[in-house]
Amino acid sequence: MSELEILERLRARARPFPRSGVRLGIGDDCAIFAARKGEELLITTDLLLEGVHFERGSHPPATLGRKALARALSDIAAMGGQARLCLVSLAAPRWAGRGFIDGFFRGLLGLASRYKVTLAGGDLTQSEALACDVVVCGAVERGGALTRSGARAGDRIYVSGVLGGSALGLRTRRGAAWRRHAAPEPRLELGALLRRLGATAAIDLSDGLALDLHRLAKASGVAASVHLPLPVFPGASFEEVLHGGEDYELLFTVRPGVVVPEAHGGVPLTCIGAMRRGRPGALELFGRPLAPVGWDPFRKRDR
Ligand SMILES: [Mg+2]
Repeated sequence: MSELEILERLRARARPFPRSGVRLGIGDDCAIFAARKGEELLITTDLLLEGVHFERGSHPPATLGRKALARALSDIAAMGGQARLCLVSLAAPRWAGRGFIDGFFRGLLGLASRYKVTLAGGDLTQSEALACDVVVCGAVERGGALTRSGARAGDRIYVSGVLGGSALGLRTRRGAAWRRHAAPEPRLELGALLRRLGATAAIDLSDGLALDLHRLAKASGVAASVHLPLPVFPGASFEEVLHGGEDYELLFTVRPGVVVPEAHGGVPLTCIGAMRRGRPGALELFGRPLAPVGWDPFRKRDR
C-alpha cells in the first residue's frame, strides 16, 4: 500500500465536522482552521513511542490509535477547552502493514468522532520502531483557560475518577484495569464543567498523583496537603494510586465554598485535601512529606 493510497482512504474517512472550524482538511499543503470570535486556541502535542510508551503487540491497532489521540485530548480537557482538530504523524515499521494502519486510524477516528475532532492532516513515513505524534488544536473562551498556576492557599484539591487503575492494568494485563490502561477516557466534558465552576487550576494525571500535584502546586507557588481518603481503583496498591501514571483523570482546585457535584457523567469527584502556604510544590500526605515521584521517561520508573 502506497502513502498516496493510505492518504486517499483517510481523506474519505476524515471529513471535517461542520462546527469544528476546519475549512480545509486532508489533501492540501496545510489545513485551514477558522477560530470563532472571542476564542483563544489551545495547542498541544503528544508522542507515543514503541518501546517507551507501549510494547509491540501489547495493544491491538485500534486501541493504540485511540490511545494516541486520547492522551492529547486529555491535555485539552485539563485546560477546560473544546478539541477541534488533530494532526497525526505516524512512522510505521515494516511489521505494521495495511491492516495495522487501517485499524490504528479506525480507533483514532472513532474517538475523534465521539468528540467531533476533525482529523485535518498529518504525515506518514516508515521507520524501525513505531512512533506516533498527535497534535490537537482546541479552543476556549478568551481568558477562560484553566491553567496549573491559579491555585491559592486554602483552595480545595479534587480528583476525578478512581486512581491507580492504569498502573495496575500495566502490571496485571487483565480485566477492567487493563482496559483502563489501554483505553483511557479524556475528561473533556468534565473540563468544561470545571470552567463553569470557576476552578482555580487544573492538570491531567498523566504521570501520577504525586508528581502532577507537585507540578500544579509548584506552578501556583503554594504547597499541597492530601489528608482525605483517596479514590482507589479496586485492587490498585497505594504506590500505584500515588505514583502510577496514565490515569488521565483531572486534578483540580476550587476556592473553599464552591459546591462541586459528587459526580459528573458517572465519574466521581473527590476532595482529597487543600492547598496551603509553604514551599512551592511541597507535598504532604496525612501529615508526612510526600516525594514528587512518578512516571519520568528520562529516569524510567523511579521505584
Ligand atoms: Mg498534561
